[in-house]
Amino acid sequence: MIYNFDFFKLSGRLRNKIFFMTVFVSVGPLIILGFLAFYSLNLFHRFDIAGIEDNLINQKTEEVSGFINNIIGVFELRVDYELSSPIASSSQNFILNELLKSNPALEEAAFVNTISEEINGERIAVGKETAKYSKTYPNGASDDVFINKSKLESFQQAATGKIYSGPVYYTLKGPMISIASPVLNANNAVINVLTGEINLSGVQKIIQNSRLGNSGYLYLLDYDGFLIAHSQASKAIKTSFKSQFFASDLLKGEKKLGIGGQARYQSVWGEPVVGAGDYISKFGWAIIAEWPANDADLIVSTVRNQIILFSLIVFIAAVFASVFLADRIVKPIKILESGTKRVSQGKFDQLVEIKTGDEIEDLGEAFNKMTAGLKRLEELKEEFVFIAAHELRTPVSAIKGYLSMVLDGTVGPVSQGARKFIEEVLVANQRLIQLVNDLLQVARSDAGRLTIDVVSLDIREQVKTVVSELTPLSNEKNIKIIYQSADVPGVMADSVRLKEVLVNLIGNAIKYTIGSGEIAISHEVKAQNLITHIKDSGIGISTEAQKKLFEKFYRVQTEKTRDITGTGLGLFIVKQIIEKMNGKIWVESEEGKGSTFSFSLPIAIS
Ligand code: ADP
Repeated sequence: MIYNFDFFKLSGRLRNKIFFMTVFVSVGPLIILGFLAFYSLNLFHRFDIAGIEDNLINQKTEEVSGFINNIIGVFELRVDYELSSPIASSSQNFILNELLKSNPALEEAAFVNTISEEINGERIAVGKETAKYSKTYPNGASDDVFINKSKLESFQQAATGKIYSGPVYYTLKGPMISIASPVLNANNAVINVLTGEINLSGVQKIIQNSRLGNSGYLYLLDYDGFLIAHSQASKAIKTSFKSQFFASDLLKGEKKLGIGGQARYQSVWGEPVVGAGDYISKFGWAIIAEWPANDADLIVSTVRNQIILFSLIVFIAAVFASVFLADRIVKPIKILESGTKRVSQGKFDQLVEIKTGDEIEDLGEAFNKMTAGLKRLEELKEEFVFIAAHELRTPVSAIKGYLSMVLDGTVGPVSQGARKFIEEVLVANQRLIQLVNDLLQVARSDAGRLTIDVVSLDIREQVKTVVSELTPLSNEKNIKIIYQSADVPGVMADSVRLKEVLVNLIGNAIKYTIGSGEIAISHEVKAQNLITHIKDSGIGISTEAQKKLFEKFYRVQTEKTRDITGTGLGLFIVKQIIEKMNGKIWVESEEGKGSTFSFSLPIAIS
């Protein structure tokens, strides 16, 4: 089936309405549903991402905290005596030796004595190492490598009773931090400071084993924003993250967990990520998980693309289905419409054929019944007109004959007064005869009984006969008839009917010329036809009236035509005859300037 896509043409209005309505009804809910589905998917997906990141961060925070607690636990030394003297040297060596053996993360451990001294009137703690064990000195260092730690921040903080952890620093052994812890007596007084260098490779291992989807990663920052560990070695950089907004918030101690804590931003490595993080308060560290948005949203974008593709397919299917539906509904209506047009033109023969099996089919059948009824009515009317006209013809002709005989004096002398009246009756009777003849002719034509017997004939003979018959009439009105009868070919026509045509047209030319004037009759050969022009200098016909001129009973109603009698059937009959003889008739006219009636007839092949 070929579809005509004239959606926007006015001629297809109903079709357009049905089309748009069906598309709207079928595609509208789909778009709303698709949108809702996508919206909820997106929402759940965000929860999912947050959940996955939170789990990872919680787990790793716990592991890192465990590592830290182990270290700190070791450094929390307390003696149960109340004396403020430092731990005995032999004990110091023993403790350090044990600590180093049991803690692989401990690279170095040392005891520092703390003495309060007055320097420039201010009491400050001073201290020098008193015992030191390290991987380099597994059996303890000698006095000459002991360093004075008085000026170190780590020592000063521990001397005041607070545990100290330093920033991360990088060595060949891995990232390290310094830690310093007070050794307290039973009165909570600081009797020694215990310092240590801790290797953070263990923390690195915790972080390295972390994964998020295909490309997500985890990293750990110290309190200055420097990287302690990163799950992707290629991303390890030695710059501070402190200025990065997400890390800087975390390092201030703001917990960033869960949906509220999840953020989308540009990572330090330059790609959009979904990030979540936590703050490890013991050391002031931050742990951050970042998942590249492209990867994290992969499921959503795949589903979104599928929803769009599916909607598109449904939309195209709906368009085709709607066109099909609209056509199915509109087609029978169009058939009915053209049926009504035919009926309005008086054509009752063709029935409409609708096979939709629904109310429209019933309507089509009802329409056919109505057409059949109208056809019967038309036939009855034609029959009536034909019979009436036929029956009237004999009495009106008889009246004419008898009145002529009375006027001839056949039945005796007629007084002057009576003659005048009889002549009036004769004129009226003549009009009646004309009307009866016209009606009979119309009835014949309507019923298809207009018999035409075409032969090859010389039209000039016919014109000359009619002109001579009508000359007394034209002379009466002082109208000159000019006929240029040059050499013309013969035409195929019915001689009686052609005469009727000429009488009508030349008669009209005389009738519709008021006062004196001129009628010119001429011929012209065009293609296979002979065209006859009858040009008058009469009252002319308006453009509006020209359109209806050849219709049954049409008469131009103007001031000028008011007193001219007629039936309005002449031109209708002329047209029927000409068309039956395979010719055409037309008029060119201008009001007040005269008219030219022209008709064509096929040239006879000699
Ligand atoms: P009628 O019996 O009224 O003459 P016709 O069918 O012959 O009927 O003509 C129809 C109408 O056309 C006339 O009433 C008249 O107004 C107009 N008409 C016909 N021929 C001419 C003409 N030659 N000049 C002007 N008007 C004409």
